[in-house]
Amino acid sequence: MISIVFVSPPAAGKGTQSQMISEKYNIPHISTGAILRNEAELMSEIGIKIKKEMISGNLISDSIIIELLNKRLNEKDCEKGYILDGFPRTLNQAKLYDEMLEKKNKQINYIFYLKIDKETAYKRTIGRLTCSNCQTVYNNMYESTKPKVSGICDKCDGSLVKRNDDSFETFEKRYQNYLSLTEPLLEYYRRKNNIYEINSGISKEYTFKQITKVIDDGVIND
Ligand code: AMP
Repeated sequence: MISIVFVSPPAAGKGTQSQMISEKYNIPHISTGAILRNEAELMSEIGIKIKKEMISGNLISDSIIIELLNKRLNEKDCEKGYILDGFPRTLNQAKLYDEMLEKKNKQINYIFYLKIDKETAYKRTIGRLTCSNCQTVYNNMYESTKPKVSGICDKCDGSLVKRNDDSFETFEKRYQNYLSLTEPLLEYYRRKNNIYEINSGISKEYTFKQITKVIDDGVIND
């Protein structure tokens, strides 16, 4: 079983890397952001609250996240492993997740810290487009990551949409949340696990190569 956690600023590439890892190792990519966006689209009472918080760049409460995640991790396809994208995002979530794993007699195998500077993270956020059908991520700010046809997914012809939390103001809020709430996870995990630090500001191919080196050989090339 392979279980993976990322600690990274917004737009460091955890979604893209999760997809690539999922394809290579055939384990599900579980994005708490995507689960929440689906829930928000349902326009239920809780969905409306979630949407409002996400558009403002705020984090959703730990109790909602834990409930949704626990439900997802109990599905059959998670038995052979999974990649968590966007969770844990706070110290409390990390502790609750550790408790959840302890009950299941499981542990985290790999913690990847994807490093990227703020300016690059900002450019990636502003240019980001996601396929509304298969969730593949593109970026209009870089030639190498633009879709072949503007607004259309290369893989499935689905239409590309901009996330409604990918604005300048929301980016700033999400980045500050990362610094104050998520970055302390590095210290927490360093004390008990092995964290793999990976430069994620070069290219998605470079980042992926480093990640697969760790999973396949237990080392980084840098
Ligand atoms: P992401 O797709 O990971 O960038 O997440 C988008 C938004 O969903 C975040 O800005 C939060 O509002 C919310 N979100 C995703 N994961 C979590 C989490 N683990 N805890 C709290 N809020 C989350």
